[in-house]
Amino acid sequence: MEKCLVCGAGICEDKPLKSGKYNIYKCYSCGLVFSSPLPTQEELNKYYQGFVFEKPNEREISRLIKKSQIQLKELFKLNTNSKNKLFLDYGGGVGINWKAAKDSGLISYYFDIDRQAEDFAKTNLGLTNENILSVNNNSLTFDYILCDNVIEHIPDPSKLIESLFSKLNPGGKLILKTPAASNTETFFIPRVLYIYLKKSLQQNSIGKALTYTFKHKYHHCDPPRHIYSFSKESLKILLEKIIDENSHIKFNYYSIPLFKYAFFNQFKMANNSFLKILLFIILFPFILLESILELCRIILVKARVLKPSGLIAVIEKNY
Ligand SMILES: [Zn+2]
Repeated sequence: MEKCLVCGAGICEDKPLKSGKYNIYKCYSCGLVFSSPLPTQEELNKYYQGFVFEKPNEREISRLIKKSQIQLKELFKLNTNSKNKLFLDYGGGVGINWKAAKDSGLISYYFDIDRQAEDFAKTNLGLTNENILSVNNNSLTFDYILCDNVIEHIPDPSKLIESLFSKLNPGGKLILKTPAASNTETFFIPRVLYIYLKKSLQQNSIGKALTYTFKHKYHHCDPPRHIYSFSKESLKILLEKIIDENSHIKFNYYSIPLFKYAFFNQFKMANNSFLKILLFIILFPFILLESILELCRIILVKARVLKPSGLIAVIEKNY
């Protein structure tokens, strides 16, 4: 019998969802959705080679940095005393948070396994080797560490969290952000739901695909990309094995920004403005419907009717 990789409970599922060469299981004891087998490091290195990331254009960069500054201030409760404290963005991608922290007066460090993303940050945001976490400065410790949408990609998230927690100064904060398992907010984002349903139909019966999509709500687990989808309970169990009892763990949620994954957001891909206008006119009824759905989503998440799509764990190290 398959066992949950976090809480160890037995999973009574003879026919899991097939996804490529992986099987997807859901633990009804702690809520974890996970892949079995886990991808090997070799498979992951190959997968992330030239991994396509979202490259923002020049106009978007400054807007995203401002947005990130607001987010970092709120997440880490930054104030005037935070100036010159050490910050690390682990899994920094194109470097937006690294730059936002730097512009907020922090001494900002960056790490990402994706070389293309690192080069983008160097070329466009002024990242230099001195600010990249490497074997040369591996003994550095930090006051603030952000690990945004990383733990769900890693075969051994415990090991990563343990290593990040050890890099935290007393009184420092480690913030983990990850998609929330089996959230209901995703049901209001047709494009995301469509992607998962379509994928599950490729190798599974209609009944199994529907059960996993609507009952088990397996969305956000798509190996070898996302290996895990954490519920609050499963992440709590994982963290309590690592974090000493004098340190504090708090949980919060975040939501997907308005229109981020809307079908019509794809218009940006069409370069020709005539084509954009034509598409807009033809698809207007659908756009209107999707906009109404998006507004309903925001309202229902605020009212806590829908479970938000993202989970935040705030870990404060004891003095
Ligand atoms: Zn479990």
